[in-house]
This record gives sequence, structure tokens and C-alpha cells, in this order.
Amino acid sequence: MSSDPIVPAPDATADGADRLDAGRPFDAAIVGAGPSGSAMAILLARAGARVALIDAGRFPRDKLCGEYLSPEGVGAVDRLVPDGRLARSGGRPIRSVRLTTPRGRVLEAEVAGPDGRAGLGLSRSALDALLLDEARSLGVEVFEGIRVSGPIVAGGRVVGVSGRRESGRPVTAHASVILAADGRHSALTRRSGATRPRSLPGLRPRLFGLKRHLIIADDAADEPPGTVGLHLLPGGYVGACRVEGGRTNLCGLLPERLSRQYRGDLDALAEATFPGNRTLAALWDAAQPTGPWKTVAGVRVETSSPLLPGIFYCGDARGTVDPLGGQGLTMAMLGAEVIAPFVLRTLAQRDLDLATLRAAQRAWHARFDRRVALCRAFHHALVQPSLIDLASLLGRGGNALLSLGFTMTRDPARMLS
Ligand SMILES: Cc1cc2nc3c(=O)[nH]c(=O)nc-3n(C[C@H](O)[C@H](O)[C@H](O)COP(=O)(O)OP(=O)(O)OC[C@H]3O[C@@H](n4cnc5c(N)ncnc54)[C@H](O)[C@@H]3O)c2cc1C
Repeated sequence: MSSDPIVPAPDATADGADRLDAGRPFDAAIVGAGPSGSAMAILLARAGARVALIDAGRFPRDKLCGEYLSPEGVGAVDRLVPDGRLARSGGRPIRSVRLTTPRGRVLEAEVAGPDGRAGLGLSRSALDALLLDEARSLGVEVFEGIRVSGPIVAGGRVVGVSGRRESGRPVTAHASVILAADGRHSALTRRSGATRPRSLPGLRPRLFGLKRHLIIADDAADEPPGTVGLHLLPGGYVGACRVEGGRTNLCGLLPERLSRQYRGDLDALAEATFPGNRTLAALWDAAQPTGPWKTVAGVRVETSSPLLPGIFYCGDARGTVDPLGGQGLTMAMLGAEVIAPFVLRTLAQRDLDLATLRAAQRAWHARFDRRVALCRAFHHALVQPSLIDLASLLGRGGNALLSLGFTMTRDPARMLS
């Protein structure tokens, strides 16, 4: 594929891609318009940078996720999207989490922040569109329907990206700085850096994620209002979170061998395995699906480091966290706040060396390593429901332990800002 500016193609006007490499180069080209990419675009545009934001999908789009935004994440969105627009999104406030086990035991914990701020149940189509619209309103140029395949490297540094439109036609973008915000299994990270797992391989089974939106006809079978449920099954769990529009999002992480066993038929898998947890079974029995299942394979906890100058990583492309603590969205946006000053410094100095990238990386680790470790510990404890059964025997003490765990995943100093 050539790295020349693209020649306008018959379909270029339709997707706007002909603007990507025409005229003045961008200061920053961000690949991925999820929460980390849009947050980064907002922060850079506010500082006056000319930004291109490129995504393979078209918005609003659904996305596999538990759709629980932590109180700290609510604070981050409120900083990024002003005028209380998140509060008017229709999202459902979340103040507690309850864990249920196959033996019918229950643990409950407060998840509201120290300032009383609640978390939020909000669909990814609504949350991601809110952030993207704000980026657009600040002058960020958004290019949808372009799948980036890799970096363009010249003189030992990344100077752009190449990819394809939906029609299959090649496209390139050049910018002073490239940002990989293309999520877990990032194509850009794979081609420009090193990714390593945080857990020893083989320590736990390979997991896959699944998600579906439901209407629960029987309110008594639904999650209690204000509560996100985590319903444990052998080797994994299925969460339930009310979101806007009277829907409940069901989202879980289960061993990949189950997907193989049921040959990818997730309805059959649900019918066979959900009765293993009676709270989940009651919810599933009362459920009317409102859309298809979404799945993602190979859910691992990984961290990435750059091997080439010219490219920063953010969000899941920078590092993932076990989903169970509900910290991924929050880290995606707070991570953009951590990394944006390094990007702006690079743009001001017109020079990007590996030392700057490594400094950004150290800042990210300093901010997030503790919560990544804690969420991993949560995961390991919860895939053995007997530990939760044991903790539930402590009564209020068990609930307090769970609350403490969730509190420690936050950065208390920043909760009140
Ligand atoms: C099962 C599961 C449940 C989860 N539940 C929660 C939860 O309840 N709460 C929470 O806080 N976190 C949760 N997470 C984590 C959360 O989803 C992620 O941490 C978050 O989405 C990361 O945001 P991001 O912007 O980095 O990446 P993403 O949200 O993945 O966005 C990446 C974007 O890049 C685009 N893209 C990908 N490849 C390309 C390409 N080659 N070219 C162009 N564009 C591309 C995609 O279309 C996408 O829009 C969960 C994760 C899993 C696996």
C-alpha cells in the first residue's frame, strides 16, 4: 500500500476520507473513537491542536461492554462533556453492587464515591456518541468507516497510518503524532510495540465476553434499581446492569471451552448454564432480548510498550484491566488525561523521542497499576465462588470487605475534582 496522499475515489466524498491526507497535515491522528480516543481528541482540540479521529465503525454503534460507568468515570465524562449532558442521557444511577453465587449466597457493597456521586448504567452507543459529538463540536475531524491496518514508518519513526475504507480502497493519514486508541487487540500496537500479558499464561482458562440487551418483563426478577449484579458461575460470571430506555444489559465473561462446547450457540449456552445461578436464571427466564448477542474472544489482561517513536498508546491499546471492577471506561478517559500533556509537549517541541513515550508510560503505570492489580485479585477471587460463600458468612463484615475492595480501585485524591 502506498503512503502517498490518497487520490479522491468515487466513494471518497461519501465517507469524507478524501480530507484525510489532503492539505495541511494534522497535528494528531487518533485511531479509535471509543472513550479513550474521543477523550484524547477533546483534550487535544481544547489545547488548539488540529485532530483527525478515525474509526472502523459508524456511530452511534453498539459495543460489547458491561455498560457500568464508575463514579470516577462519571466525573471524567463531566469534565470532558460540559453542561450536565451526561446527567440528561437517561443513564441509570448505580450505587451498589451485589454478588450472587451458585449456592445462593449474596454479598453487597456500596460503589458510590466519597462525595456521594453515583456510578451510571448507560449503553455504549449513548456514551460513545456523547463523547464523539463533543469532539466534533470542538473541530475534531471525524472519519468513520476506515479500518487502519498499521503504521507508516519513515526514518525509524511512525509518521502516519494506512488502512482501508469500507469499499476496500486504501487510505493513508499523516500527522505529527499518531495515537493508537483502537482498543483491545489493537492492530497499531501489534505493529509498533510490544504487548505482554499481566498474568502468567495458563494461570486461568481462556475467557470470552458476551453481551445482550434485554427487556425484563418481571421487575422483581430484574436487578434492583441502583444495583449492578454480578452473578457467578463456575469459571466466570454474568453481570446485569440497567441502562437507559428501560433495558437491562447482560454481559459476562465465561471460559472459551463453553463457547466451543455449544458451538457458538449462545442461547443454548445460556439455557444450559444460567440455571447454575438461581438469581441469574430468574432474570433470564423473564427476559426478552432486544438485539443479537455480541461476543469477543481472548479477553486477557495485557500491557503495551512502544518500540518506535511517533506513536502513543491509550485506553485498552495501552493496557487492559479485568472487567469485573468496572474500571475500563474510567481508565480509558483518565488515561487520556494522563497522556495528553505528553502529546501536547511533543507537539510544542516538534520532536518525539522514545524517552518521552517512556515517560508517558511511567506516568500511566504510576496512576493505574494498583487498580489493575486489585481488579485482577477480584477476578481470581470471584471465579472461585466458594470464597464469596465464605465471605458471606461474615455478614456485614463480608459486605464491608467487598466495599473496601471497590473503594481501593479508585484514586481518592481525584474523586472530588
Ligand atoms: C466483557 C467485558 C465487559 C466490560 N465491562 C465494562 C464495564 O462495565 N465498565 C467499564 O468501565 N469497562 C468495562 N469493560 C472494559 C471497557 O469496555 C474498555 O476498557 C473500554 O471500552 C476501553 O475503551 P477504548 O476507547 O480504549 O477502546 P474501545 O472502546 O474498544 O474503542 C476502540 C475503538 O477503536 C475502533 N477500532 C478498532 N480497531 C480499529 C482499526 N483497526 N481501525 C480503526 N478503528 C478501529 C473500534 O471500532 C472502537 O470504536 C469491559 C470489557 C469487557 C471485555
